[in-house]
Amino acid sequence: MDGCFQVECSEGGQSDTASDDEAFRSEVDAFLEAALTDELREAGRETTGLKSSRMACADWGDKLRKRGWIAPSWPTAYGGAGWSAAQRLYFENACAEQDAPILMSSGIRTIGPLIIAEGSSDQKARYLPPILSGEHEWCQGFSEPHAGSDLSALSLRAERDGDDFVLTGSKIWTSFAQHATHTFLLARCDPKSSKGDGLVFLLVEMDRPGINVRPIKFIDGEYETNEIFFDRVRTPAADRVGDIGGGWRTAKQLMAIARSNNTTTGLLRRALRAAQRAVAEQGDADSDLMSCLASLGQRVHEFEALEARAAIGQLGVEPAPSSSVLKLLATELHQAITELCIESAPYSDFAQAKYFATRAATIYSGTSEVHRNILARAIGCP
Ligand SMILES: Cc1cc2nc3c(=O)[nH]c(=O)nc-3n(C[C@H](O)[C@H](O)[C@H](O)COP(=O)(O)OP(=O)(O)OC[C@H]3O[C@@H](n4cnc5c(N)ncnc54)[C@H](O)[C@@H]3O)c2cc1C
Repeated sequence: MDGCFQVECSEGGQSDTASDDEAFRSEVDAFLEAALTDELREAGRETTGLKSSRMACADWGDKLRKRGWIAPSWPTAYGGAGWSAAQRLYFENACAEQDAPILMSSGIRTIGPLIIAEGSSDQKARYLPPILSGEHEWCQGFSEPHAGSDLSALSLRAERDGDDFVLTGSKIWTSFAQHATHTFLLARCDPKSSKGDGLVFLLVEMDRPGINVRPIKFIDGEYETNEIFFDRVRTPAADRVGDIGGGWRTAKQLMAIARSNNTTTGLLRRALRAAQRAVAEQGDADSDLMSCLASLGQRVHEFEALEARAAIGQLGVEPAPSSSVLKLLATELHQAITELCIESAPYSDFAQAKYFATRAATIYSGTSEVHRNILARAIGCP
């Protein structure tokens, strides 16, 4: 892979030998070169959101599974690749450079690692293998109509009845719930509680009677998010992670895992390559566009250096503010790149779809304002 900010791939940044890192990179490059067909590369290039087409994801997922690389962050004991943070970063960037499809599986990136860290042995046995095989797909049921940025205001009710909880209420903006076999969600199990107290973190099968998924269509016609309605849905109380009443702590742990699992330079590299193509297709592009492209390329390179240092714990700040810095910089830079795409190719369907898709990036996983608040608090503002 050319032009990559090089970090040592061995765990904690302490490379045993430079040749180990070199061997890892060569192995990844050779695999991608051989495994990515023209169709898969095309699907990767055409992706405007966080996931490639389902067909491309299935095909690419199968190849990664056979190679043992479907779950880069999972320990090998659970069927993962067992890679260090720096190795994962290299892999994500190499996939971006080679136009691999984007998988972005919630099971592999968020709930799987949480179950590995906190789940019971029964949950590990029941849930981890079907996540790896692709049989189970998960969605995240956190936001509600009156609980987005202020998530702890959520009110989905979980009433205890024998060995079950009975769920009543709704969730909103749930990405890919239309394909999900399971959802992990937060519900209020103590009706007298408020804020982060009295919550439970549950693993729920989507085909339970009383669950109804309704699509939300975006302004550009895309369909990715949903409302989920729960009408007295019975679900086993044993299918929770963490203590009854301690759901908020579990949710915070899940978010920390999700952030540490996600590397975003790959997405920026893909967007930059799309902008380069859009400018190149113009023929004799004007010098303002070229200079804008060069400056965005420089910013991606700087972001990559920052993300690489964060991945191996070298930023010297706590994980929470450092992930807010990365989220803010990456999503706002992503938007700037897609603005250049639109300027270069205003009538391109791809440029328009990508522009709309990245508008949402400064809303989901915490809005830019919320992350700025976190940073303000981290530097001691009242
Ligand atoms: C494409 C997309 C996919 C999503 N996928 C999921 C999903 O899979 N699962 C899930 O649970 N949720 C999902 N969400 C929901 C997302 O997490 C929320 O939209 C987000 O947290 C914001 O909440 P809200 O929409 O209720 O806006 P609000 O919280 O009502 O915010 C409205 C505006 O007020 C600002 N604001 C709010 N509070 C403050 C404050 N204290 N200081 C300054 N400004 C503030 C916000 O920044 C925003 O600009 C998704 C959202 C989108 C757009």
